[in-house]
Amino acid sequence: MGIKQEIIKKAREEGRTILTEIEAKQMFSEAGITCTDTRLAATKDEAVSLSEEMGYPVVLKISSVDITHKSDAGGVKVNLNDKAEVEKAFDDIMTSCKAGYPDANIEGIAVQPMAKAGTEIIMGMIQDSQFGPVLMFGLGGVLVEILKDVAFRVVPLQERDAKEMIEEIKGYKLLEGYRGSEPVDISFLEQTIMKLSEFVDSTPEIAELDMNPVFAYSNGAMVVDARIVLAV
Ligand code: ADP
Ligand code: MG
Repeated sequence: MGIKQEIIKKAREEGRTILTEIEAKQMFSEAGITCTDTRLAATKDEAVSLSEEMGYPVVLKISSVDITHKSDAGGVKVNLNDKAEVEKAFDDIMTSCKAGYPDANIEGIAVQPMAKAGTEIIMGMIQDSQFGPVLMFGLGGVLVEILKDVAFRVVPLQERDAKEMIEEIKGYKLLEGYRGSEPVDISFLEQTIMKLSEFVDSTPEIAELDMNPVFAYSNGAMVVDARIVLAV
């Protein structure tokens, strides 16, 4: 059994449809999509030793299927540079998440390397009642929230679809490099969309997913947050 089927089986046995960020990234990584290495620390000491293994700076995030918007809950601390900062972040995250979500089942804290800044992209999948799975691509951050600058294509995509959906968004100029900003690796994004299409096409158990944000670089791209919801 592959990692994907093992994760789905475990979630089903536990009676949950929401996968953790760690599980979602494991599934995407197995599908060939580049994600930050993300591992679970059950204790503060484990968080420190994982951070030292990965190398500073690191990011700590709450790991709980009951907390969807991690930063709103005070559950994300970025750019931690040493042991003391990791220890403090661990305590601060726990305190604020337990206060905001007293009933949440918290499995621990996810540790991951701090990714270098890039152009924020969002990719996702929703199930359409008529068309089945549909992929979404857009610019992340305020652009997706305010302008809803996103493009959709029905799965499975052809390579041409991946190229077109990137070119179709209003913010395409930003990706091409605007006023001195470096162009991003558009062909890498196209390949990522194709891998996501294949993954979705071969995983009918998934009801919806998103990668928000993906950092796009002049060379490659990195998924820094991931969410997958299984169908009931
Ligand atoms: P949520 O969407 O649940 O609030 P995220 O995991 O998206 O939480 O984290 C919030 C923000 O923190 C992201 O939008 C991103 O800007 C930043 N971030 C998260 N993980 C990393 C990382 N590994 N490297 C750099 N920045 C990160
Ligand atoms: Mg996010």
